[in-house]
Amino acid sequence: MNAEITCNCCRKRKAVVGLEYSGLDLCGQCFCELFERRVRKANRDFAMLRRGDRIVVGVSGGKDSAAMLHVLDKLARKIGDITLIPVLIDEGIKGYREKAKKKAEALCKAHGYKLTVYSFSGLSGKSLDQIIKLRNKSHDPQFSSMGACAICGTLRKYLLNKAALKLNANKVAIGHNADDIGQTFLMNILRADPDGVSRFGPVSENDGDGLTVPRIKPLIYLPERECAYYCELKGLSYHLGECPYATEAFRGLVKDFLNDSEEKYPGIKFNVLKSYLNLRAQLEENYGGKSAAKPATKSSSIPSNKCEKCGGKCSKKICRACQILEFLKK
Ligand code: SF4
Repeated sequence: MNAEITCNCCRKRKAVVGLEYSGLDLCGQCFCELFERRVRKANRDFAMLRRGDRIVVGVSGGKDSAAMLHVLDKLARKIGDITLIPVLIDEGIKGYREKAKKKAEALCKAHGYKLTVYSFSGLSGKSLDQIIKLRNKSHDPQFSSMGACAICGTLRKYLLNKAALKLNANKVAIGHNADDIGQTFLMNILRADPDGVSRFGPVSENDGDGLTVPRIKPLIYLPERECAYYCELKGLSYHLGECPYATEAFRGLVKDFLNDSEEKYPGIKFNVLKSYLNLRAQLEENYGGKSAAKPATKSSSIPSNKCEKCGGKCSKKICRACQILEFLKK
């Protein structure tokens, strides 16, 4: 950043962060205040935190969850009577997760928390590396066609929910940022899965059966890049490496497309986020938050099925996590 530029907000300190989409150049302090204001806005808009909450905070060792833990810690103290429980899911990715885990431990220690770790090995007896080897050798068309991220993401979500139930938490906080939400939205569109658009959101529904813990996404208004700036400016410990399986992901293509588009047309990522939130609001208004793909009438809500194995909410007989766990037993 040009040494001559002064912060557009305080007009005193030197600007260190440029936000192309808004034309603002901000000093470290004003940028961090803006970052935290956006988390508070997400909290207000979607009623994420309440007094008395016990929240499992998904911590990965990366920048998003580091920024999230830091801001939630501040916010929880301000609101009062909120317990945060950082949980890391160790997938078992050699050369990647061990380093990230060390960063997560250091981050939690610096904030006065103990990190609780759950692993894929503890769940299924196999690390993700071993699961991917089995998938590569499998003749089962369903299992062999699953992407590493689909397997990993499904088991991670399942395990985080399991952890939250065990730790008696009533919410799970996930470090999904504005980029992640925009990518997921576009991926659903590109896969012709409009139902998927209504399935994910800033706050997931409580199904009332005590088996699925609601998820909250406090970073929904924060672009990925700004999470990194925030961590740097606050001196938060985070791991910068890339998962070796990331190249397999369809998400990578969508991410590159959005990054290139943002470069040429600053603000496009926020437009995608806005489109998603507007569409979601309309779906909720028209169909009462139920599936958008099969809306028969306003009053004929579609009952959500229960997985025959674990009892969790799912749209088929057996949920995807239980299907994967079955493949691993064969
Ligand atoms: Fe899991 Fe994919 Fe993320 Fe790697 S990139 S940690 S495989 S979801």
